[in-house]
Amino acid sequence: MLEVRDVRKSFGGIHAVADVSFDVRRGEVVSLIGPNGAGKTTCFNLISGFLRPNAGSVLFEKQEVTGRPPHRIARMGLVRSFQKTNILKRLTVFENVLAAHHVHGTTSLAATLFPTRAVRESERRLRDSAAEIVTLVGLGARMNTEASALSCGELRLLEVAIGLGAKPRLLMLDEPAAGLNSEEAQRLGAVLRTLVGPRLEALLLVDHNMSLVMSVSDRVVVMNFGRKLAEGTPAEIRNDPAVIEAYLGAETRH
Ligand code: ATP
Repeated sequence: MLEVRDVRKSFGGIHAVADVSFDVRRGEVVSLIGPNGAGKTTCFNLISGFLRPNAGSVLFEKQEVTGRPPHRIARMGLVRSFQKTNILKRLTVFENVLAAHHVHGTTSLAATLFPTRAVRESERRLRDSAAEIVTLVGLGARMNTEASALSCGELRLLEVAIGLGAKPRLLMLDEPAAGLNSEEAQRLGAVLRTLVGPRLEALLLVDHNMSLVMSVSDRVVVMNFGRKLAEGTPAEIRNDPAVIEAYLGAETRH
């Protein structure tokens, strides 16, 4: 679905991303990992159109998306979710997801003021779908709770639900487990796995939580100093000497 080909991005003299290539196939969960400053976020920004690469290309479903604006890339089904920033704290869980869904409604202002039966029907479909997403991520019991009252773990699940509200084919999640304890991270991991298939064609993650990454991913891409250091299944990555030295090793030394 996604082909990242030799993308490069420099900031002044810093090579944030240097000739990185990898694919995400339909049905897969792929994680991008690496130490702080390895270039993961820059890579995400290059794929989702928030940054334009100095070289290389990004293809989504064989279509070149390199340098296209983020909203156009999102409309093609390649959606990137942000930490926290998407959540409207005074709205309920359901309303937050419905708001994300409304971007896809086709209703004009006139139709909103004088709704026809077709408009009411489309509105009902959006509401049903939003409720279904809230239940799918495990927040059914919190449907009508204000987002401001949610725990950290529930907020992360709501971010995922808002991402799903944008009807992605491939969803990119930036540190979905940030700030979660291991129990919450496990719950999130279980939810993420169930999404691929029924709601998503593929999932691309950046996260520092190794137990989440290793348990949900089909493949892991490891970055270090802007370059791709390794790529493989979680088992291959765990046993890769270069990865152990550069990344996992650094953690065990601490
Ligand atoms: P982290 O895990 O800490 O989020 P990361 O792997 O996402 O790190 P990036 O944020 O992509 O890494 O940063 C890669 C390098 O590029 C770093 O050296 C960073 O300081 C630099 N960098 C990122 N964005 C900019 C920018 N807008 N201007 C200048 N330098 C930048």
